[in-house]
Amino acid sequence: MLQNRCDVHTHTLYSRHAYSTLRENVLAAREAGLELLGVADHFSDMLFPGTGLSRADLRDYQHFINMRIWPRTWEGVRLLRGAEADIRTLDGRLFGQDIEVTKTITGASYRTPRSLYERAVAGCDYVIASVHYKDFADGATLAQTTQMYLGALSQPKVLVLGHTGRAGVPFDVREVVGEAARRHKLIEINEHSLEDTGGVGRTWASCREIALACAELGCQIAVNTDAHVSCAVGRTPTALAMLEEIHFPQELVATRSAEAFLAAMADAGLEAPVFG
Ligand SMILES: [Zn+2]
Ligand SMILES: [Zn+2]
Repeated sequence: MLQNRCDVHTHTLYSRHAYSTLRENVLAAREAGLELLGVADHFSDMLFPGTGLSRADLRDYQHFINMRIWPRTWEGVRLLRGAEADIRTLDGRLFGQDIEVTKTITGASYRTPRSLYERAVAGCDYVIASVHYKDFADGATLAQTTQMYLGALSQPKVLVLGHTGRAGVPFDVREVVGEAARRHKLIEINEHSLEDTGGVGRTWASCREIALACAELGCQIAVNTDAHVSCAVGRTPTALAMLEEIHFPQELVATRSAEAFLAAMADAGLEAPVFG
């Protein structure tokens, strides 16, 4: 049986269409036997009406700027601070990178203006880059959508490409997986993408093809739930069954243990946190 002891893509109430608190997710992670939980709420203009690609208010995103108060270990579970940022352009730029923030959450002026993205991810251990809005990719060539994922992978804080098998934007799988392997970054195999497919259909086939390419090209994967409610945290039976069916090597599962995941972070050039 493949082992999976980390879940680094989970959502809390902050994501608005998710339903559990941080503590509920931590307790669910403990119950599921996880060694490490990563909370990566949406960093996206889907959350707040009035937000756009050119305009946003840091007050809507303050969830991300105070995460340092989370305990590093809670109920015996190591806790990582993440964000799931939307990929928003064909060159792989992420939501908030083109929005300048000049005011703090209390309305004072920042001495140094920085982008909303920089402010939000400064306190994150890692970023998952995912496509949710895909209108910008309408009519794009395969070369362009491939470049989109390569661009996202080149961003320093991006550790994982999220649910590429169900984003609905086709791309050159071998090229993107090969680049992720070279950069020591991770491709996500997402339980939520697979659980309702019954082992058939386009999304299943696409996720399976991506996993096969990872096995062949030596790219590590992150097996995550994408849980939007605490009872889903840490439970990835469908993803693991698919991976077992293709004899996916355990050593390429970066989420197999906390130790393996933290080593993967370091290999990707990210600072692994110190756990008290
Ligand atoms: Zn969501
Ligand atoms: Zn997502």
